[in-house]
Amino acid sequence: MTGRDDGPTTEADDGGHDHNFDTAADGGHEHDIEAGREYARECDDSDPLADFRNRFALPDAYYMDGNSLGPVSDAAEASLQQAVDQWREQGIRGWTESDPPWFWYGERLGDELAPLVGADPDEVVVGNSTTINIHTLIGTFVDALGPDDPQGVLVNDLDFPTDHYAIQSQLRQRGLDPDEHLHLVESRDGRTIETEDVIDAMDAHDVGIVFMPSVLYRSGQLFDLETITEAAHERGILAGFDLAHSIGVVPHDLSGISVDFAVWCSYKYLNAGPGAVAGLYVNERHFGEDPALAGWWGHDKETQFELNLDFTPADDAGAWQVGTVPVFSAAPLFGALELTHDAGIEAIREKSVDLTSYLIDLVDAHLADRGVSIGTPRDPAHRGGHVALEHPEARRISEALRDHEVIVDFRPPNVIRVAPAPLYVRYEDVYDVVEIIADIIDEERYEAYEAENEVT
Ligand SMILES: *Cc1c(COP(=O)(O)O)cnc(C)c1O
Repeated sequence: MTGRDDGPTTEADDGGHDHNFDTAADGGHEHDIEAGREYARECDDSDPLADFRNRFALPDAYYMDGNSLGPVSDAAEASLQQAVDQWREQGIRGWTESDPPWFWYGERLGDELAPLVGADPDEVVVGNSTTINIHTLIGTFVDALGPDDPQGVLVNDLDFPTDHYAIQSQLRQRGLDPDEHLHLVESRDGRTIETEDVIDAMDAHDVGIVFMPSVLYRSGQLFDLETITEAAHERGILAGFDLAHSIGVVPHDLSGISVDFAVWCSYKYLNAGPGAVAGLYVNERHFGEDPALAGWWGHDKETQFELNLDFTPADDAGAWQVGTVPVFSAAPLFGALELTHDAGIEAIREKSVDLTSYLIDLVDAHLADRGVSIGTPRDPAHRGGHVALEHPEARRISEALRDHEVIVDFRPPNVIRVAPAPLYVRYEDVYDVVEIIADIIDEERYEAYEAENEVT
């Protein structure tokens, strides 16, 4: 790397987090940064998940973007191929005779997903896209509020934009001006949201629903779902979450902590493929609420094909499906989930925490004096699966990285997101990526990208 032999900075020592976090206490350890590559190899040799990497096709040498689009696995490809074969061999009979029947994909995949979100199988269904699921669930729960309940929705100013677009549109359709009814918790530092500020905002505004991410897409902050849900319920407020950046890498306990509803997508850490069908959770106490976006796929399945003009919604989360399940965008999820379950979500989280800790320690030791800082909470209990590296030249560095077969992504204004996804990223990969970033900065190789970008 750099020949430097200084250990982690004081800042990292302040983090001192490895010792007071359960998951890390089991499998995590102080990382021996001075031992360099040898140490990374030792970690890989003793990694219980190491073999899962062989099940994935990785298009580039260092694939650190699995929080945006996970790679294909042999299992996902096989379950997709199986659906294609069924189409060829069974034609329309595949709807009822394939295994599992396409007709029931949403429910069967919901059963498989339920343990990952900590819910009963009938509280989870797969269907639609994440954005559509936000539309239907926000619409549903604004409608479900009592006539005297405040109808405002509480979000935060670091959210992924589509969540706000969907909520604003649902409010407008109910004659509620988003300027008055969409309330934003403001970040103090531009990176994270304080739980305390979320709770204060519940009191400061007329809030009927709080809708937060589990993990912020840019900084990677992991929210305290339990505390937020509890505080909301104490105030008669409903609590919903967008799990797009945590499903498949952080375990959840939605039913256990009584979350009202949640949405997520399947193409990030779940590795089900580009545009794969999304998922949703509705707590069973809300079964029977009218779905805001009704469609025949949410009809009671036993009588769906009687084709009545009166809508009889399914009596579980299935009611929030809308139209026909896109079979080929759902089939890979069967195989992808098989892999996730084989590895075990607790083991995945444990390795994820250890990989991100290792990355942070390496950045402190080797990149801090090159102007790179950590934009992600240092306490693993407050961190999802990716790490935000901040640098004034983040955009050009991330472009230079891509030309070195390191796939990361850039989020304006100054963040490089690095996601060491535990099913296929090695400790040595993390080591290499830090070394490559150091080289790019030392040799100012990012300078080469300026002209190109000035043109666009
Ligand atoms: C990825 C992501 C989405 C994606 O929504 P689509 O409908 O699948 O395009 C939504 N919300 C958040 C927070 C995300 O990270």
